[in-house]
Amino acid sequence: MDIILKKMWEYDTMPYIFWAAVVFWLGCCFASFLNVCIWRMPLGESVVNVPSHCPKCNHRIRWFENIPLFSFLCLKAKCSSCKQPISWRYFIVELTGGLLTLLAYFKITWASEYFYMIIPYTIIIMIALSSAFIDFEHRIIPNQLTYFGIICGIIFYTVINLLVQNQWKYLIFHISSIVLTAIFLYLFHYFGEKLFKQDAFGLGDVKFMIAIVALSNIIIGVYALFIASLLGVIAGVIIARMQKKSIHKMTIPFGPFLAIGSIIAMLII
Ligand SMILES: [Zn+2]
Repeated sequence: MDIILKKMWEYDTMPYIFWAAVVFWLGCCFASFLNVCIWRMPLGESVVNVPSHCPKCNHRIRWFENIPLFSFLCLKAKCSSCKQPISWRYFIVELTGGLLTLLAYFKITWASEYFYMIIPYTIIIMIALSSAFIDFEHRIIPNQLTYFGIICGIIFYTVINLLVQNQWKYLIFHISSIVLTAIFLYLFHYFGEKLFKQDAFGLGDVKFMIAIVALSNIIIGVYALFIASLLGVIAGVIIARMQKKSIHKMTIPFGPFLAIGSIIAMLII
């Protein structure tokens, strides 16, 4: 208990590097599970009940073929049974998950935040990473991801504010900001649809942002939305130029931008 209550700068160099390595590796492992979510959630398959298998030959993946980063490199990006290529996405998701979690760890130490903040930050990274890939490919952000984030955020801050810090005022503020975000963004979605006759800011995006606020705070939420909109407009203009289309006629999934915006906001605010 002592360790999670201390601020990280109170530690020596060796534990610092040790914890950095632990955090990086845990990030890779969680992201490895995200690969399963990215593949199965849009298909409506269970992410826990069915053991990992090759989608091409159904070969069941053994534990030593499932070690993040290493297995992919050792198998040379091929299934050990049917020799069909495995998508580089698996490796990229694992590495990105690990590196972003490591960045969150650095942010916590630089900003001398409490070490337990690694928990909501890691959940933000994982939800953002999987939502970005799923939304890009399938144009949806699964409810399982966003509801999971909202519930985790509420439980986490309830435990921290009541049991650890004994600050019920912060908890009330946090819950109110989640409710306000939900009302404001839902209205934004509703009127956006009515006015522009376009589903520019979908319900999935609304729930994603509620999850981000639940897992961090409203300031990070506002910055995330701002950065996402800015990146979305820039990308929209570039893609419209390249495809020689009017920007009004294009539909670009907003999820990946919200994901990037949330991670940047979380790391810099
Ligand atoms: Zn196979």
